[in-house]
Amino acid sequence: MSVDMNSQASDSNEEDFGVNSEEEEDEDDGGEEEDQVDIASYYEGVASDVEQQGADSFDPEEYLFTCLTYKESQRVLTDEVNTVAAALKVSPAVAKLILVHFHWHVSQILDRYVRLSRPFIHSAPQSLQCGVCLQIVRRDALLALPCQHSFCKACWEQHCTVLVKDGMGVGVSCMAQDCSLQMPEDFVLPLLPGEELKDKYRRYLFRDYVESHFQLQLCPGADCPIVIKVQEPRARRVQCSRCSEVFCFKCRQMYHAPTDCATIRKWLTKCADDSETANYISAHTKDCPKCNICIEKNGGCNHMQCSKCKHDFCWMCLGDWKTHGSEYYECSRYKENPDIVNQSQQAQAREALKKYLFYFERWENHNKSLQLEAQTYQRIQEKIQERVMNNLGTWIDWQYLHNAAKLLAKCRYTLQYTYPYAYYMESGPRKKLFEYQQAQLEAEIENLSWKVERADSYERGVVGGEGELSASDRGDLENQMHIAEQRRRTLLKDFHDT
Ligand SMILES: [Zn+2]
Ligand SMILES: [Zn+2]
Ligand SMILES: [Zn+2]
Ligand SMILES: [Zn+2]
Ligand SMILES: [Zn+2]
Ligand SMILES: [Zn+2]
Repeated sequence: MSVDMNSQASDSNEEDFGVNSEEEEDEDDGGEEEDQVDIASYYEGVASDVEQQGADSFDPEEYLFTCLTYKESQRVLTDEVNTVAAALKVSPAVAKLILVHFHWHVSQILDRYVRLSRPFIHSAPQSLQCGVCLQIVRRDALLALPCQHSFCKACWEQHCTVLVKDGMGVGVSCMAQDCSLQMPEDFVLPLLPGEELKDKYRRYLFRDYVESHFQLQLCPGADCPIVIKVQEPRARRVQCSRCSEVFCFKCRQMYHAPTDCATIRKWLTKCADDSETANYISAHTKDCPKCNICIEKNGGCNHMQCSKCKHDFCWMCLGDWKTHGSEYYECSRYKENPDIVNQSQQAQAREALKKYLFYFERWENHNKSLQLEAQTYQRIQEKIQERVMNNLGTWIDWQYLHNAAKLLAKCRYTLQYTYPYAYYMESGPRKKLFEYQQAQLEAEIENLSWKVERADSYERGVVGGEGELSASDRGDLENQMHIAEQRRRTLLKDFHDT
């Protein structure tokens, strides 16, 4: 992965429950420095801009969520703790442990516990010897958990201190062997030496409470003190209102529709493991299939035109672009060898590698296109600003080009994530349908990219000359946007979350 959207969230955390970055998951961070800012702003607000396109059908990605501060999410948690504590007649500390166990499904807990008596009964310690340090201590110097395992205070203190220093919150549990009883926070807190460690423990607890809550998710942005809240947890795109981080609500990785959370994790792990093998692929130049002149790719569009012989061809498969429209299927679909099971292990390994590289190359190529198109977008932004400053029209006049570039990013992003999906898909009629829709989406995206690049060149005076794009060209571009977005929605409707 090289698109990095984490980089901009660097505000320090002034809320009371800051989660240290050291225990945050380290998201991938492969982006080149210069691309980061561009790409981050490129994605920002894509969804809202695109909504204005007036696409007439239902958007399968629509998803409601709220961004809460730590204080606000603390209030959500406290309300639920109080509800459960009152209903079960347990201390808030014990209620929290129960809530964590049930992922904060309050109604489930109430259904289940409503007729049970108190689950935790304190009883007198049985022994006068501490089971850890084996010292004989006075009965009142031993502390016992509800599981009745009792140890001396000094041993409990040491145990808790070590675990909390290790980053543990809810997971601090009984010292007895084979006992996994978790310690309520009001048992642990008095045992911790010093306010600093107590604060750390409270932060870890907060992190664990949020992470265990089925409706809450911490923003993965660096040091970002925002918690996302949803009604129904799903693998959907959410965006932090504070740091603009875009991620999947369910797994907190980069948003990955139509691929599901487990599959994208598998794919990213595979890509990381096989990075050596895949490295040779990243070619910036290829030879024109007609006149063999070396051609460098400097735009995102995969419809190439040779600067010397004007031959139109596809960057991915080097096929003739004229026939490519109808044969796009052949470009994005991997043709498996049906006889491979009967061949040698070595042949099978070679075939497996070939298949992986086929998908990886396309995945990687669309990722690069995204970055190159982000640069086009940047140029368009600058051009618009310049025009507006020189009183050559208003922002509204150029909005269409800005919208087209944003929509292109959104569509290509989805297209990139169709490749891991296809890679792991079992062959059969459903895969055929998927590949068909993928090819359709791909074709319309390249058409859109081609038109955006032309419009950008035209507006910059590289082609034709300075001046507005004609109304028909503009209508053509807007029509292309509509088609590409419809293809994207159709694919997601049929294959995302099914
Ligand atoms: Zn002891
Ligand atoms: Zn125990
Ligand atoms: Zn954030
Ligand atoms: Zn996910
Ligand atoms: Zn050529
Ligand atoms: Zn091709």
